[in-house]
Amino acid sequence: MLSVEEARGRILNMFQTLESERKPLLDALGQVLAEDVVSTLDIPPLTNSAMDGYAVRYEAIAGATYDAPRELRVIGHLAAGQLPQQEVAGGNVVRIMTGAPIPPGADTVVPFEETDEYEKKSLGMAPLDITEIKIRVDVPRGSNVRPAGQDIQKGQMVLKKGMVLRPSEIGVLASLGRDTVEVIRRPVVAVIATGDELMEPGEPVSAGKIYNSNSYGVAAAVLRYGGIPKVLGIARDNLESMNNRLEDGLTADMLLTSAGVSRGDYDIVKDVLASRGQIDFWSVRMRPAKPLAFGVFPGPDGKKVPHIGLPGNPVSALVAFEELVRPAILKMQGHIDLEKPTVRAVLEDDIINGDERRGFARAIITHRDGRYYARLTGDQGSGILTSMAQANGLAICPEDVPVMKAGSEVDVQMLDWPSLGVAS
Ligand code: AMP
Ligand code: MG
Repeated sequence: MLSVEEARGRILNMFQTLESERKPLLDALGQVLAEDVVSTLDIPPLTNSAMDGYAVRYEAIAGATYDAPRELRVIGHLAAGQLPQQEVAGGNVVRIMTGAPIPPGADTVVPFEETDEYEKKSLGMAPLDITEIKIRVDVPRGSNVRPAGQDIQKGQMVLKKGMVLRPSEIGVLASLGRDTVEVIRRPVVAVIATGDELMEPGEPVSAGKIYNSNSYGVAAAVLRYGGIPKVLGIARDNLESMNNRLEDGLTADMLLTSAGVSRGDYDIVKDVLASRGQIDFWSVRMRPAKPLAFGVFPGPDGKKVPHIGLPGNPVSALVAFEELVRPAILKMQGHIDLEKPTVRAVLEDDIINGDERRGFARAIITHRDGRYYARLTGDQGSGILTSMAQANGLAICPEDVPVMKAGSEVDVQMLDWPSLGVAS
């Protein structure tokens, strides 16, 4: 049996970072930058005001106090987006809005609050009628002035290849005037469910059948981690049906199947795959999700398409996805950090782990009095998908620990942060 790390290592070896594509800015959220971004602009482009107030020469307000204000002459008004028309000299000032360029001659901005503007307005004066203004404080020279290039300077390397585009990076790109960006493309992941017992959601209930939940849970996980799922429905437990679905699956960057990888009579995924590709069958030392298939198929144009055969039990399929598929999907997208966020928590239930596999127990993680606590979501059977639905983390029981006692500390991989609105 392979350890989880060995299985992950072998899988990751078969995947490479994909090519890049140029995308409209907003569509690139979450993708990895495939170019170094150097600014062709100063940002802000001009020295400008950080406050609504009055642009002055510092000398004109030096020593001003509430009791001994300086009364200065308002010679103009400047809104953001306008260019200054007058020079500020002597005791002249310009009324200025946040973001407007500082007029020549001025070096300091005094906010409205430090003037008698409010009193003037309360007497019914409109801002444009104000021709004299009392400045009541001696703010330090240069106050509330943002120099040109304060954020970004022309020629500066602003974002580096390999960075993940979050809202802040998207904003930075827009601030540079960019409307497209070069990013690593998202992988297309084909998803095929297998089983004679399956029917599709939306079909009427039929005796002895169950709804295909794996395709949906797995495709949703593909989406969540940045892939593009290509859901190819259900293959029945016979060679012809499997082969048919496979044709469409082999145009993808990765093929996922569910079920048919254990030792039952109708577990034919392995037969089909073994006959068409190079396939390995693995037992991975983990619980759930011990049986797993992995291999490579010849695709169109000589391309090789890696295949991961997930177990059929829905919890197993999703846990195997988190541990073994997710890292590959992230690697294809150029991500470097493939680990799940992990916290150390106090166990609130025992975890029983009889046969030296790594246990991934579905748990509800809460944060109380500065500590994390992990409580199991009831029955841990691999068919109990609601145990996964209630969980926001996977509590990890090491292979060599047969029982983890309530009260001991455990590593927990967070599935969601911090909770799903689960009652604590
Ligand atoms: P198998 O690996 O084919 O033996 O399947 C293991 C278990 O998972 C069986 O109980 C199947 O009915 C169940 N199962 C297989 N595929 C799905 C699916 N797509 N959705 C929900 N349950 C499934
Ligand atoms: Mg089956």
